Amino acid sequence: MFRTRFAPSPNGPLHLGHAFAAVVAHDLARERGGQFLLRIEDIDGARSRPEFIDEFFRDLEWLGLPWDGEVVYQSRRLDRYIEAGEALKHMGLLYPCRCTRAEIAAAATGSGPDGPVYPGTCRGRAVDPEGAAWRIDMARATALAGPLTWVDELAGAQIAQPERFGDVVLLRKDLPASYHLAATLDDAADRITLVTRGADLFAASHVHRMLQALLGLPVPTWHHHALLVEPGGRKLAKRRGSPSLGDRRRAGEDGLALADALRAHRFPTGISLCGGLDSES
Ligand code: GLU
Repeated sequence: MFRTRFAPSPNGPLHLGHAFAAVVAHDLARERGGQFLLRIEDIDGARSRPEFIDEFFRDLEWLGLPWDGEVVYQSRRLDRYIEAGEALKHMGLLYPCRCTRAEIAAAATGSGPDGPVYPGTCRGRAVDPEGAAWRIDMARATALAGPLTWVDELAGAQIAQPERFGDVVLLRKDLPASYHLAATLDDAADRITLVTRGADLFAASHVHRMLQALLGLPVPTWHHHALLVEPGGRKLAKRRGSPSLGDRRRAGEDGLALADALRAHRFPTGISLCGGLDSES
């Protein structure tokens, strides 16, 4: 069964960029006779707020984007993440790290899906694992996984190059998974066949492809769509005054008409698509 998903994090309200992502995932599922899943990425309990989740449901209904089946919550899947983390530790692929953000930024060797690329400072060091984050030893992992490929249906066939992004965190110091581990495990558990998300997460897919190989998970196809940006090319953000979907709904805007406008790539003044291969219309 063909399945896509929309996977918002309830750490803020949805805005137009999220509506576009949801339209893309919903419509691909409908066009191909498949299912559209809604997954709430609420693993980060400190930043997640239940009132945003209620708003997500209302926003999707208002846009006319019904999801199929039960809503999935990451916060109910912590056991799975712990189990996979233990398996990766047993494979000798994770090491604890206590570096601070500032230390990493000062020594970084480039930038990747999580920001500055970690230079490997704690790799091979005796670090107290209590309360530490756990990083993947990318050189060991890629040697074990061997050459890997993946397919983005817009960008075409890709050779997986997770090593470009360094030893990313897989288990956060406060949580049994990072975004990379949780999203990869969830897409497998939810039997997602087409991972639809913004082109800003393209680099992360190199890492996710490797995790699939290490953990013996099925390999989906990806669809990284272009992002909605403000003049100057910055992603839409509530903090820069982009109204939330809830604001628009409460102001009486027609959600079905808005979804249709997004489908037709008709955006409010100043907003355009950027950064993906579907941005040319
Ligand atoms: N939870 C992420 C977000 O809100 C999306 C992650 C994904 O689609 O893989 O941006």
